[in-house]
Amino acid sequence: MDATGLGTKEKFRMRVAFLGLGIMGEAMATNLVKAGHEVTVWNRTPGKLVEGAGVAPTPAAAAQGAEVVWMCVADTEAVHQVVFGMDGEEASLTEGMIIADSSTISPSATARFAEQVKARGVAWVDAPMTGSKIGAREGTLVFIVGGEEASIDRLGPLFAAMGKKIFRMGETSKGQATKLAMNLQIAMIFEGFAEALTLATKLGVDTQQLLSLIEATMVRSGVVDYKGPFVLRRDFTPNFPLRLMHKDIKLTLEAAKEARVKLPALETVEEIYEMATEDGHKDLDYAATLTLLEKWAGVQVKGKAA
Ligand code: NAP
Repeated sequence: MDATGLGTKEKFRMRVAFLGLGIMGEAMATNLVKAGHEVTVWNRTPGKLVEGAGVAPTPAAAAQGAEVVWMCVADTEAVHQVVFGMDGEEASLTEGMIIADSSTISPSATARFAEQVKARGVAWVDAPMTGSKIGAREGTLVFIVGGEEASIDRLGPLFAAMGKKIFRMGETSKGQATKLAMNLQIAMIFEGFAEALTLATKLGVDTQQLLSLIEATMVRSGVVDYKGPFVLRRDFTPNFPLRLMHKDIKLTLEAAKEARVKLPALETVEEIYEMATEDGHKDLDYAATLTLLEKWAGVQVKGKAA
């Protein structure tokens, strides 16, 4: 392994089935093709294609003869269906194959799924990621990985094609557990920023000047650096849709309940996502949770350009 955690970047061609061509998956599969791998794609709703990749009618057909099956679908139920449902990849699993899952799903379900396929000599590597659609497109994702080191090493050329760094967090399911701990922080840091903007606006503070102050002090964060300009332009087009962050918050609360951990602040933030969804914002970026706070306060946060 080198400093990136990606190992050497020497190329060798792998046969990969890529299942799920949403915002993230389509760009990831495209980068695998560009890196010279032999890729067969499948998507639940037919018609999505990746130039240079084969297309299969079912997950089982895509996985036939593959060394690696890489998934990037919506949630725990989707992963269950794609692997174990009708025409699922399970039918095509053979000893030595690796399933890599970049969907963000339940850590405990991941451990159960991995146990089921282990009986057939198949390794499960959970590889949720961070980096949003821009990172997926540019091949600069950061992967948060759980699984046996030998399997992760075998996936090295594929990680290198799609991302800039991997972090191995422990055995299978620890990638998912860590991803939830990361998104918990993103949701709460953004909520703190949104509440501060709302209050500051109501009190007559110039929000552009507030942003400059944040940048110059320890209040600064990657979340605010990234989201601040979008929010002040009132650009809520989805980079990470509210519905997916809401799904991750619910997964986090479920995992906390299973582990008997209380997360009172996240429970409150979850209610805000629930109400923002009722207001019709689920397909906007999660930054649109701000609009709910604005509605309650009777103000609208604006930067100079908005
Ligand atoms: P997306 O654009 O909503 O795509 C979801 C994909 O899952 C689509 O291919 C969809 O197929 C498929 N799917 C949904 N339900 C399914 C089911 N029951 N069976 C089979 N396939 C199903 O989502 P995305 O943004 O690509 O995100 C994918 C995963 O990555 C999610 O777990 C998300 O939390 C995670 N993630 C996303 C981001 C981001 O910035 N977007 C960042 C990090 C992690 P159809 O085309 O048929 O609907």
